[in-house]
Amino acid sequence: MSNYNWCHGPTCHEQHTQDRIRGVKGSKVLRTRKLRENYYNQRSIWGYFCSMGCYNDFAKEHMADIIAIAPRTEALETPVDVVKEKVTSRWNSNHTYMETKITRVDNDIG
Ligand SMILES: [Zn+2]
Repeated sequence: MSNYNWCHGPTCHEQHTQDRIRGVKGSKVLRTRKLRENYYNQRSIWGYFCSMGCYNDFAKEHMADIIAIAPRTEALETPVDVVKEKVTSRWNSNHTYMETKITRVDNDIG
C-alpha cells in the first residue's frame, strides 16, 4: 500500500492533459492528479501539488487564510556587515571593479 495525495490545485481537474482523462467513452472526466508519496516529494510542496501552476493557483485562492497562519506585522532584519572591495577580473587582469560583500553578523553568540 502506498500513500498518496490528490493535487490541491483548485483547477487541476480542468487542465486539458491526457493523463487526467478517466472513465469510459460517453462518460469521460478530467480528474485531479494523484501524487504518490516518494523519497523526493515527501515533506515538500511536490507531495501536494503536481505543478507550479497548481501551487500558485492554490496560494492565490487561499492567500488570506495562508497569511492568517503567520501574519507579519513588522519587518524582520538580519544584522550584516557590508564591505566594498576592489576586485580584479578573473578574465582580464587589467579590469577591476567594486564588489559589495554582505556578511551575516551573528549577534546571538557571546
Ligand atoms: Zn495539479
